[in-house]
Amino acid sequence: KTDAAYELVGRQEILPLYRPRLKFSHKGTYGHSMIIGGSYGKIGAVQLASNACLTTGSGLVTAFVPKCGYQSLQTSVPEVMVLTDEDERNISKITLPFVPDVIGIGMGIGTEEKTAKAFGNLLKEMKAPMVIDADALNILAKNPKMLKDIPEKSILTPHPKELERLIGAWEDDFDKLEKAKTFAKEHEVILVIKGAHTIILYNGKGYVNTTGNPGMATAGSGDVLTGIITGLVAQGYEPLYATIFGVYLHGLAGDIFASQQGYEAVKASEISTMIGRGFMDIL
Ligand code: AMP
Ligand code: MG
Repeated sequence: KTDAAYELVGRQEILPLYRPRLKFSHKGTYGHSMIIGGSYGKIGAVQLASNACLTTGSGLVTAFVPKCGYQSLQTSVPEVMVLTDEDERNISKITLPFVPDVIGIGMGIGTEEKTAKAFGNLLKEMKAPMVIDADALNILAKNPKMLKDIPEKSILTPHPKELERLIGAWEDDFDKLEKAKTFAKEHEVILVIKGAHTIILYNGKGYVNTTGNPGMATAGSGDVLTGIITGLVAQGYEPLYATIFGVYLHGLAGDIFASQQGYEAVKASEISTMIGRGFMDIL
C-alpha cells in the first residue's frame, strides 16, 4: 500500500548527492560541528562521534562534555577542541561561546534532571539544525513539550527502543512506519529508523538504506552514525541529503571492515576507520 512512498537507496542514488572537496578551500569551508554528550563512564560515546565527524570531513569539531571527560577526549582525539560543563559527571548547563553550524547531541549524555533542563534550554536558543540521538531522544520522550522547540530540519536517530519511547508501541511493521511518518510530519523532523534496513522518513516519504551488516549491532555503532551525519551537515549537505548519504556511508564503512575481518570483529571505532574507503567506493 505504501510502496510508492518508499525509495530504495543504493550507490546510484548516493553519488549525485556528493559534494566535492574544493581545491581553493580551507577548514572554514567545511563547517564547525559541535558534539555534545557524555557522562561519567560514557565519555567514549563522544570520542566515537567526534572522531567520526572529523573523519567524515567536518572542518572543525568542538566537543562539549562534563569535566570528567576533558583529559581522555584531548588525548584520544587530538584534533577535537574540548569545552567542559561546570559539572564533573553530567551535562548541567550548556553555554556555547560561538554558534556552530550544526550540533550532534545525546550520545552518553544520560537523562538526569539537570541534563534534561540544559538540553531544553539549548533547543530554545539554537537555530542551527541538530542531530539528536540516544539519551537526548529519551529526554524528548519524557518531556514531549520540548518537541516544539526542535530547530528546523533537525534529524532524530532512534534505535527501536528509543523509537518506541517517542511514538509508543506498534502492532506490526506497517503500523510502526505509519506512526513514525505521522510523528516526523507533525514535528517537522527527519526521522531515522535504525535497524538492519534503516529507513529515513521525511515529509511523508521514506528512503530505505541498502548497506550495513549484523556486525554493526555493536556498542557505539549509533554514535558513529551521529558523528557522520553531523559532519555532512557541517559541510553544507542539505539535512535530508546528509542523512540519506550518512546512513549509506555508515553501513558501507561497516561492510568494508567486515569484508576484511568478519562480522564479529566490527567495533564502532573500526567503522570510523573505513569512512574514507567508503567515500572512495561511492566515487
Ligand atoms: P545504536 O543502537 O544507537 O548503537 O545504533 C546501531 C547502529 O547499527 C544503527 O545505525 C543500525 O542501523 C546499525 N545496525 C544495528 N544492527 C544492525 C544489523 N543487524 N544490520 C545492519 N545494521 C545494523
Ligand atoms: Mg545509540
